[in-house]
Amino acid sequence: MKKLFTLFTIFLTALSSNAQITQNNLFGDLNKDGKVTVSDVMMLVNIVMNGQKNLSLNAENVSVTIDKSYTVTIISGYGKYTAVSSDESIAEVSLEGSTITITGKAAGTVVVTVTDQITDSCMEINVTVTEDIIPYLACPDDHHPHMIDLGLPSGTKWACCNVDTDHPENQSPTNYGGYYAWGETETKSTYKWSTYIHCNGTDDTCHDLGSDIAGTQYDVAHVKWGDSWQMPTRDQISELLNNTTFTWTSKNDVIGIQFTSVNGGSIFMPAAGYRNDSALGNKGLNGNYWSSSQLPSNLSIAYDLDFGSGSAYIYDDGFRNFGQSVRPVVSSSIVANLHISSATLSIFVGDVESVEITSGSGSYAVESSDESVATATIQNNIITVGAVTAGTATITVTDTQSSQTATISVTVSGNLVINGNC
Ligand SMILES: [Zn+2]
Repeated sequence: MKKLFTLFTIFLTALSSNAQITQNNLFGDLNKDGKVTVSDVMMLVNIVMNGQKNLSLNAENVSVTIDKSYTVTIISGYGKYTAVSSDESIAEVSLEGSTITITGKAAGTVVVTVTDQITDSCMEINVTVTEDIIPYLACPDDHHPHMIDLGLPSGTKWACCNVDTDHPENQSPTNYGGYYAWGETETKSTYKWSTYIHCNGTDDTCHDLGSDIAGTQYDVAHVKWGDSWQMPTRDQISELLNNTTFTWTSKNDVIGIQFTSVNGGSIFMPAAGYRNDSALGNKGLNGNYWSSSQLPSNLSIAYDLDFGSGSAYIYDDGFRNFGQSVRPVVSSSIVANLHISSATLSIFVGDVESVEITSGSGSYAVESSDESVATATIQNNIITVGAVTAGTATITVTDTQSSQTATISVTVSGNLVINGNC
C-alpha cells in the first residue's frame, strides 16, 4: 500500500512540476537526472513490478597476479556505473557496460569501489595482487623458480630449480645450487660436526629441531624463497617417487635425473653430490636432497632423497652435518586455501545467485543453516543459492579434502531494500 501511495505521489509531482525541478537528491528523482519526470514514474513502476535492482556483483573478494586480469560482473543495477581503484599503481580498473576488469600491477591490496550512479549505492571489491606463482608443467620463461605441477595426489608442487640457482636446466657443474647442513640456512666452506650449528660439536649432541622443520626458521627453502616455499617432507619425497618415472639424463651437459609424471609435468635435478668437510663428493654421480623430516630414532640423521644412475630412493641415512642440495616444494595446503568470491549475498525471494569457489582442492560440500530461507547446491566450483522466503541463512562451504570451511551470509528479502552508501 505504501508503494502505491509513493507511486501516486511521484506521479502527481511529475505532472505538476512539468520536469523543471533541479534540486540534488530530489525526492522522487529516481534516475538522478535532476528532474522528476515520467521516466522516474516508469522506473518506480518497474521497481514495484519487478523488484528493485539492488547493486550486486558476482565477486567481492578477488585475487589476481601481476599483469593478469580478473573480470567482475555487475549482476544487477540500473546500468550506469563507475568503478574506481583505491590505488592504480597496485591494480587498475576499467569498466565496460557491466563488466569490470581488474588488472594487477604490483603486489598489494586495494579496494575497488563500484557505484551505481542512479541510486548512489555502492559496493566494494577487495583485491589482492600477488606475485605470479601459477603452477606449470614446465618452465614457461626465464623467471625461475616456477612451481611445477606433477599432478601429485596431495597437490604438492615442486620447484623447477634448487635453492641458490635460478636456471634449472642450465645449472652448470659449478652452479648446482647451495649445499646446506640440515636445518642451517647459510652455506659454508667446511661441513663437519664441529661447524654444525645445531649440535655441540659431535654427532651425539644434535639439537632436537622437531620432527619436521618444513616452514620453520630452520627451513632454508622457506627462509630464502618466502612464505609458500618449503623443504619437502619425507612423505612428499615418497609421493614424488611413487607417482613419477625417472630417467638418468643430462641437460646442457649437466648430469642428473628427470622425474616425469603422467600429466606431462617434469622436473630435472642435477647430480650435485654432497659436501663432507671441505670436499665435494660424487659430483655427477649422485644427487642428495634433504627432506624436512627428522629420523625419530636418531637425532644425527634426517631423511633424504638419494639418486644415481638407475636408482632413486628416500633414505634414512643423511647425516645432518653434510652439505646437501635442497629442492623446494609448495604444499597443497598453501596452494589450495579455500577461497570464495563472496561472503555475503543479498537476494530476493525466488531469485537464484551464484558464488564461485576461486581456490580449493576441487572437492566440496555445501549446507544451508535454514533450507526454508535459502537453499544451496554445488556443481564443480559454482555454488548456487536459491532464495525461498524472507530471512537470513548461513551457507557453509566445506573443502572435503582439507576440511577448511567458508561461509556465505545470505539475506533474503521480499521487499524494497536500498543499499547503504559506502
Ligand atoms: Zn623455472
